[in-house]
Amino acid sequence: MRTKIVAGNWKMNLTRDESLQLVADIGGEIQNHDLNGNRVMVFPPFINVGYVMDSGNRNQQIEVGAQNLHQAESGAYTGEVAASMLTNIGVNSVILGHSERREYFHEDDDLLKEKVDAALKNGLEVVFCFGEKLFERQAGNHFAIVEQQLKKALFHLSEKDWEKIILAYEPVWAIGTGMTATPEQAQEMHAFIRKTLTKGYSEKLAESISILYGGSVKPNNAEEIFGKTDVDGGLIGGASLKAADFAAIIKALS
Ligand code: PEP
Repeated sequence: MRTKIVAGNWKMNLTRDESLQLVADIGGEIQNHDLNGNRVMVFPPFINVGYVMDSGNRNQQIEVGAQNLHQAESGAYTGEVAASMLTNIGVNSVILGHSERREYFHEDDDLLKEKVDAALKNGLEVVFCFGEKLFERQAGNHFAIVEQQLKKALFHLSEKDWEKIILAYEPVWAIGTGMTATPEQAQEMHAFIRKTLTKGYSEKLAESISILYGGSVKPNNAEEIFGKTDVDGGLIGGASLKAADFAAIIKALS
């Protein structure tokens, strides 16, 4: 059985105080909800990760991760954060490959491969994001793009390494735009991703990997998207900043 996950990417939002309030509010919203083995994660900006983790008001069911890391172990990289710094404060998970990192910080598949290796070397679990842009989908290239992103950044990994990988398919045209992939489009791509994993590794591995959908998931569409066979939950941006909306999305996981 694959683990189902709802993860909130807070991006560059919320002060420390707002972050503490939000995590306490989400905890309150889900305190009587049986997660039934499903996971809930939030990803605050670096500066607030430790505060949110240590928050006395945090419902312990809510895991806390980081949004990025630098590929080097340490060194002269002003403004950056190394994997060991995250694990040292108790962080277990990191998002890599988000489309905003690819677009605004020019992170390409080769760099992401290095970042994935740094994360795994330090024992971190990776939520790996990938997905096509609108023009790529319109040109009918979306499957090829996704396959290439996966192969370049992840297909050097061993089967054992994959135990630490969560995939997040996020069509760029659906992120923060209010345009959601239809449940059928999400299912079609997730099934393709599993087929690609089967070809590169094995059916057993493909069936074991949690594949999240990301892109304008809201309380009113979460249940339908999560209801698809190959969708194991969601990576949520905007709606993760509102406790009631995020809790409703968590509750949409079966
Ligand atoms: C994201 O940034 O990963 C995301 C899915 O954002 P949104 O839910 O706002 O589209």
